[in-house]
Amino acid sequence: MTTDEMLARLPDEQPDFEELQEIIGRELQGKLFARRVGVDEDPFSLSPYPHWECVCTACGKKFEADVKDKLKDMTVCPMCGEKVKPHRWMFRQGGKLTSAFLFYHLFRGAGREIWVRSWRVSQRLNWDGLEMDYVPMSIYHFDDGTAEKWKFGWQGWKPIKTIRMDTWKPNSFSYEYYPAFVGSISKKTIKGSCLEYSQLDHAMRYGFPLIEYIQFYLKNPSVEYLWKSHCIPLLEDYFHGSRGDVRRAVNLKAKTFKGLFRGADKREMKIIPGLHAREIVWFHRLYQVGVIRADQDGVDWTRARKTFCRDVPGGDEKQLYRYIHRQAERCGRSCASVLYDYADHLSQIQRLGGGEFWPHDLDEAHRRLSARERKIQDHGLNGMFRARRRLWQWAVWRHAGMFIRPVDSVKEITLEGERQDNCVAGYAKGHAEGRTVIFVLRRADDPTKNWHTVELIPGTLTVRQCRGYKNREATPEAQAFVDAWVERLKNIRDQRRKSA
Ligand SMILES: [Zn+2]
Repeated sequence: MTTDEMLARLPDEQPDFEELQEIIGRELQGKLFARRVGVDEDPFSLSPYPHWECVCTACGKKFEADVKDKLKDMTVCPMCGEKVKPHRWMFRQGGKLTSAFLFYHLFRGAGREIWVRSWRVSQRLNWDGLEMDYVPMSIYHFDDGTAEKWKFGWQGWKPIKTIRMDTWKPNSFSYEYYPAFVGSISKKTIKGSCLEYSQLDHAMRYGFPLIEYIQFYLKNPSVEYLWKSHCIPLLEDYFHGSRGDVRRAVNLKAKTFKGLFRGADKREMKIIPGLHAREIVWFHRLYQVGVIRADQDGVDWTRARKTFCRDVPGGDEKQLYRYIHRQAERCGRSCASVLYDYADHLSQIQRLGGGEFWPHDLDEAHRRLSARERKIQDHGLNGMFRARRRLWQWAVWRHAGMFIRPVDSVKEITLEGERQDNCVAGYAKGHAEGRTVIFVLRRADDPTKNWHTVELIPGTLTVRQCRGYKNREATPEAQAFVDAWVERLKNIRDQRRKSA
């Protein structure tokens, strides 16, 4: 309908002031504003006796307190008994928001129509006390198979295509929104309306968004059957964003309860209400091909199986089920954790380019492949280490009873790190890729004993670090050697450049 038609048909309904105050008291942290009246500091007051003048945002009531009371002790409102936060009531706070929220009011129209209006509600403190204010935000119109929305803006009411709940925040830079509340919905309002069988009260109890739920129901009246068969996880999935999964799991266009889950038999139908959308899809698939039964084990397997994101070797689901159950029994762990390891095992096989798909002892095979994989990784780096060693052969130097050479292998750099108790092993990749060069400095008379570790920056031929045991500074002897060595390296490089 057009905006004019809408305005002509819209029943004249306003939110109930008492209900709004009740929401503030129940849902929002109450504040208590107090000012001292009739004392020297209050030149405006004409009051003949000194006292605290107080107003509570939770109940909206005004009252007086003894002038000797301390503001910080006023933490419970004597009028409504709510816990409140005490604040000084000052003139400059006039007009400042004390509570603000969005309020949805649902009411009946002609025939089977339902209207919903949203209001921006704010509670303000002024010189006289609290003032409640509500400004219209949106109008929604619902009827069998119809959902429409208008929003109030600069140019009056404007139709809006996407029918969602509104949001309201203090300003466009804020990340925080004011809360939204739905007013009470009486049975009388719903009876005989387009929402008569919508199970709206259940939806509200589960915290589903009002507008989205109504629209969902009007489009898919079969939702009623989902409530009646207690398919709560499925409904939750829909309102928590997994709409695609829900559509795959259930035929929302069904006209009967039986039509909701196509091809499901009686036993399955007993299990389905406890499952989430993706679980229903998996359960049905596995049950229909005879892998699982409609029992708890079947549900457990479904939950584990849906997180297993690899192709089953040979595509044999039954074999996978039997194999994992056998392995789980062997090591006394859950099928879910064994299946997780098995996925890891399969990806190792893929990386290594071969292996046993169904090893007799998965635990042992997994350990063996992991060790092999480490070795291959080392092997890859070792090849690069050899290349570094050849490249830096010219830097090997024996002098004054000491000698220096590039580190030999991944194993050596790891051992160097362990024995010297430093972090040099972390440089293995950098060394292999030539971003840095790691040298070991030894005494000529004890060449197998770790002494100093030296890091050279290849581009500038400068020493970034020369460290002894536990990252200690180099000994003077070693430092002198390294200084002379760097000098020598630079000379060699310069001569090479000249001759080149
Ligand atoms: Zn109160």
